[in-house]
Amino acid sequence: MTSYKELGLVNTREMFAKAIKGGYAIPAFNFNTMEQMQAIVQAAVETKSPVIMQVSKGARNYANGTILRYMAQGAVEYAKELGCPNPQIALHLDHGDSFEICKECIDNGFSSVMFDGSALPYEENIAITKKVVEYAHQYDVTVEAELGVLAGVEDEVSAAESHYTRPEEVEDFSKRSGCDSLAISIGTSHGAYKFTPEQCTRDPKTGKLVPPPLAFDILHEIEKRIPGFPIVLHGSSSVPQDEVDTINKFGGKLPDAVGIPEEQLREASKSAVCKINIDSDSRLAMTAAIRKHLAENPSHFDPRQYLKPARENMKKMYVHKIVNVLGSDNKL
Ligand SMILES: [Zn+2]
Repeated sequence: MTSYKELGLVNTREMFAKAIKGGYAIPAFNFNTMEQMQAIVQAAVETKSPVIMQVSKGARNYANGTILRYMAQGAVEYAKELGCPNPQIALHLDHGDSFEICKECIDNGFSSVMFDGSALPYEENIAITKKVVEYAHQYDVTVEAELGVLAGVEDEVSAAESHYTRPEEVEDFSKRSGCDSLAISIGTSHGAYKFTPEQCTRDPKTGKLVPPPLAFDILHEIEKRIPGFPIVLHGSSSVPQDEVDTINKFGGKLPDAVGIPEEQLREASKSAVCKINIDSDSRLAMTAAIRKHLAENPSHFDPRQYLKPARENMKKMYVHKIVNVLGSDNKL
């Protein structure tokens, strides 16, 4: 058993309490590689932002869970080395699909876990979430639960159709499960193709897709029923069109990739939404930089030559999200 406290990590309780009070949201960035980890830490230190580094099932399959845990431990030390004496970094399990995987992560130094029972029948979702909460709280680890289903495919989490969270269920669910935060479905979606062209309108000037707006009425109804309770938005990448254009210009093929407009995420950050998950935008920033670099430097074959601009581009994106979208800068 390794407690996250020994690793210098923090759970999400205080982060979320401050974020709700302050009208901002904590960034939750997924990481799979050293370059992503470095870029996240550099951005958080530079902007003096708390940050959640999260690990999905796909990340564990790709990089190995043990390695990712040690990378998070390294992230704390790296932040200190960069001049941040008290970094606020949480290591979070994204979309845990069983009690066992949540327990394994808690035992290995994670400070926060998600149990995603959103595809299960309501009572079963409550029962397993509660079991995870009872185990996690013994070690002061915080637990995120989910009600409502997000569409999209990402890292082995997939659903063909979304259904919105039912506000009339949230009070009963949060009370009986004992969860510390709740992921809801109000129209965000996983992946870089969040909406089909049929769900969108098209900007006549640029020809780009304009996605349907988030269901703010449902969010506000949920806030009314569980005032001050931390709300989480998954699938909240914006799919920046300049990165998509760069990818397509240098040999990629991402037609009609579309995400959640940043103005809507900024608006959500001011509410009880206190954690916003961003994964695809980091993938796009990395891929755009690598494609551009290799196209412009055909003789390069040292991975450091193209991973360096990739890391810089991801860091730039993380800083932008923290400062201009979520508002979590200068909150340490
Ligand atoms: Zn998710």
